[in-house]
Amino acid sequence: QTNLEIIGISKIYDKTIKALDNVNLSFNSGVYGILGPNGAGKSTLFKILTGIVERDAGNILYNGKSIFKDIENFKNNFGYMPQNENLYPDLSVKQYLRYICLLKGIKDKSISDEIKRVLNLTDLTVKENNKINSLSGGMKRRLLLCTALINDPSLLFLDEPTAGLDPKQKAEVRNLISSLMENKIILISSHLTEDIENIAKEVVFIDSGRVVLKDSTNKILRYY
Ligand code: ADP
Ligand code: ADP
Repeated sequence: QTNLEIIGISKIYDKTIKALDNVNLSFNSGVYGILGPNGAGKSTLFKILTGIVERDAGNILYNGKSIFKDIENFKNNFGYMPQNENLYPDLSVKQYLRYICLLKGIKDKSISDEIKRVLNLTDLTVKENNKINSLSGGMKRRLLLCTALINDPSLLFLDEPTAGLDPKQKAEVRNLISSLMENKIILISSHLTEDIENIAKEVVFIDSGRVVLKDSTNKILRYY
């Protein structure tokens, strides 16, 4: 059983902006929606979980151990899909995935198999030789998800995974995420309830850096 425990996490930018204010959350395997308006602190939470941004206070335990004791090692346990596209336009899909595999320390002889596996999962195999700049927005999002799946991590942090997609593409990405959930903790941030209502078992609402509500998705949809 996987467990992620966020304990009293706070983050202040530029000495004045309280992006996160004593956030306490506990997750077991399943899909969770992290909802809140723009500026609520969702991205900051993901960036602290992934070691991109440093916390000012608090701790995060993964299966009982602080992730900050050895953040480099913790990086082997999660996949992160950032909100902003940061792809290399002139590389092909396969070249880009190879590059990410190298960054993640996958052994040379295993790389081809791993690329095949993630392309197959995300239904991108037909595009493996296409250049990234020729992909549609939806396919670029799928490629970002693909990179998060390399090494089959037990934690997935997906920051607005359906941002900028049309309804059909959104549904595709949602279905894809649902198909991945087995034995993983998947955190999905969004400012739209509809993005997560059919896939998340629980929803966390964040506003002004504080957790204002955490409950089962069913309950929340019924009462709010
Ligand atoms: P969300 O992802 O929910 O939109 P963010 O975590 O991006 O929220 O932002 C939370 C707050 O922190 C906002 O007020 C935002 O302007 C501020 N913020 C985010 N990143 C930085 C930064 N690098 N420097 C200063 N302020 C920041
Ligand atoms: P998000 O809401 O996901 O953070 P934004 O478009 O608000 O997306 O922010 C884009 C980038 O700018 C992020 O890396 C964020 O941390 C940073 N950022 C956001 N607000 C500020 C700010 N007030 N000052 C400096 N950087 C910021």
